Amino acid sequence: MAKRDYYEILGVAKNASDDEIKKVYRKLAMKYHPDRNPDSKDAEEKFKEAKEAYEMLSDPEKRAAYDQYGHAGVDPNMAGAGGAQGFGGFADAFGDIFGDIFGGAQGGRGRGGPQVYRGADLRYNMEITLEQAANGFETQIRVPGWDNCEVCHGSGAKPGTKPETCPTCGGSGAVRMSQGFFSIQQTCPKCHGTGSYIPDPCGTCHGVGKIKKTKTLEVKIPAGIEDGMRIRLSGNGEPGVNGGPAGDLYVEIHIKAHDVFERDGDDLHCQMPISFATAALGGDIDVPTLHGKATFAVPEGTQTGKTFRLRGKGIRGVRSSYPGDLYVHVQVETPVKLTEPQKEMLRNFEKSLTEGGARHSPQSKGWFDRVKQFFE
Ligand SMILES: [Zn+2]
Ligand SMILES: [Zn+2]
Repeated sequence: MAKRDYYEILGVAKNASDDEIKKVYRKLAMKYHPDRNPDSKDAEEKFKEAKEAYEMLSDPEKRAAYDQYGHAGVDPNMAGAGGAQGFGGFADAFGDIFGDIFGGAQGGRGRGGPQVYRGADLRYNMEITLEQAANGFETQIRVPGWDNCEVCHGSGAKPGTKPETCPTCGGSGAVRMSQGFFSIQQTCPKCHGTGSYIPDPCGTCHGVGKIKKTKTLEVKIPAGIEDGMRIRLSGNGEPGVNGGPAGDLYVEIHIKAHDVFERDGDDLHCQMPISFATAALGGDIDVPTLHGKATFAVPEGTQTGKTFRLRGKGIRGVRSSYPGDLYVHVQVETPVKLTEPQKEMLRNFEKSLTEGGARHSPQSKGWFDRVKQFFE
């Protein structure tokens, strides 16, 4: 879910001129404008993406900042959200550098107090079966969590010592620095915004005050959930820093491919071979559904490729009042490995059809008529 590079979005070089950026943006904006692409989610996303990229790159200060620090200054919550592997630092050290400029940072700085960060969001990928998605279920997941360190009781300082006021920022948590032609407030590099520093860190937690501890969470997967949907477990992301709120944990659902069914929204599709005789004579066949077998009558003279709809045998989506339908696509199977007597019977059968004229083969008749027209 990494954010795309602004230059890449617009398709321009890093040293592109302002004019060039404006020109490219206009072109993209015209192409992806929602008025021109009324029902396209993709176009809408591209339009928003291009707009954001242009807003950043058309402003010289923002562009300079972006060139130097990338997305880090724009969206601190993206830190660590790339997957359950990224349980590194508690917060992106650059999280708030551009908060004053972009106005996009979460939390805030009380006048003179240390910087407060919201913890990063985390993602947990969960693979489930189509049956589980259709019926819903409850499960438990084990994810990294954090507890106060028992040795230092969360202070981060070795027992018997305590944190001192940071000498670099004087306890404010921030330092001012010049970046080219503008001056910005930066999180203090020594204390990372806490305003205090630990001369003698606790050996167990290395001065962090917290230790990682796996925790078990209950997750309720609602019936009808679709591939790519996310369930938010509020407050179960990384912990906040300096008293900031914790981030959220997102459980992202991935539905495994099914051997028999293909899902399309609330509907299901399946391919069903039927015998040549059943197709010709008609008869009851058993079709699989997610809730066991169902029987339905194939009418006489069924052609291959014919689709039958079984109402209500699909999936009830999370926001649907009624379940979808099951579409059975029948394929007439040609018999193989026939014995000589069976072949003889078929030859006689074929002969009887020819004697009866074209009325036994409606598709062939239509096809030959079209071919004839084509040559005339
Ligand atoms: Zn400091
Ligand atoms: Zn400790």
